[in-house]
Amino acid sequence: MNIDFSDRALRIKASEIRELLKLTVQPNIISFAGGLPAAELFPLADIADVAKDVILNEGQSALQYSPTEGLQKLREIIISQRLERVNIKADLDEIFITSGSQQALDYVGKMFINEGDKIFVESPTYLGALNAFLAYGPEYVEIPLQCDGIDTDRLEELLKSGLKPKFLYTIPDFQNPSGITMSMEKRKKLIVLANEYDLVIIEDSPYAELCFASEQIRPIKSLDTEGRVIYLGTYSKTFTPGLRIGWVVGNPVLINKFIQIKQGSDLQTSSLDQRIAAEYMTRFDLNKHITKIIDVYSKRRTVMLDTMKAHFHPDITYTESDGGLFTWAKVKEDMDTKAILAEALLENVAFVPGASFFANGGKNNFMRLNYSCMSEEKIREGIERLAKVLNKYY
Ligand code: PMP
Repeated sequence: MNIDFSDRALRIKASEIRELLKLTVQPNIISFAGGLPAAELFPLADIADVAKDVILNEGQSALQYSPTEGLQKLREIIISQRLERVNIKADLDEIFITSGSQQALDYVGKMFINEGDKIFVESPTYLGALNAFLAYGPEYVEIPLQCDGIDTDRLEELLKSGLKPKFLYTIPDFQNPSGITMSMEKRKKLIVLANEYDLVIIEDSPYAELCFASEQIRPIKSLDTEGRVIYLGTYSKTFTPGLRIGWVVGNPVLINKFIQIKQGSDLQTSSLDQRIAAEYMTRFDLNKHITKIIDVYSKRRTVMLDTMKAHFHPDITYTESDGGLFTWAKVKEDMDTKAILAEALLENVAFVPGASFFANGGKNNFMRLNYSCMSEEKIREGIERLAKVLNKYY
């Protein structure tokens, strides 16, 4: 059969490192390649009780179709529990539920991108967003990340030169892959530039609440007075990713368009999952659970950084992330971390080579290391193995 894929389908490609990373599921391999939350922290017994009660007490609704915009009770809970905590004020018609924020990224692409449209992205940025947008044929314009977030001077230069992107995509908190957080000063500058140049900002914020420092920085959305920031949130990293519940906060005109798009996509996010989440959030205090996650992850982060400090060559630099799941290491300019991964696998340790996080490629000397889903002992052992491989080059 001659399979005549659309141009859109042809743009979606399997990741070249996927085959290599398949090897990392073997039990003897210590893998820093994943991006998964720690499954041993999922509150299983509580979720089991809640799920049973939801089915027994409200099963007919929980297993029925439900409104595309999401369960009203869950949207109210997200507004009062999650958004208020990060200083975002939203009405019910400014929020809708998605099947994880990955779905929201696809909808953003569908909603804004015509083939050839310019999209501003941080360099590096989340691979899953690049792939989601890619289907719609954008031209990526990379804006460098500095240690305090996106290079706003470069952004201003590009906007001044007349470049008009459909939107700017940013992950301001404990970014995937770099672990970098945007300073308050830059968030304010970004809003000023967005207002001046009529820019739409997509603020993707799955990690903000996993903050190890004493004070979280306010989201860009909380500074938005013109309804030009579309904010993406999710329970994936603070509760469980398997329920697939995310949310979009934006002005009602945009939310309405998102809902129309969702109607043609999956009609609604699972009624059962939404009711389980809403009931859990009513009975239990997610903030307490988040505190527990932060405690475990921050210790794992410290073990990873301390072991890197002790065993990596001093010329290898890395982010001292203050939250989230990742650190990001830079090796010598002429080194290729894809080749190093092949060597690392022989030592039974894995990471994600950084090249795929750059929208237009070309940077091969970075690696992303995840510390959330492994014991401190394994982190120590894995980083020592990795140091052995890397130090051969120095
Ligand atoms: N955005 C970023 C930056 C992510 O790292 C992830 C998950 N790795 C997502 C979005 C998607 O998350 P989910 O669909 O589980 O909410």
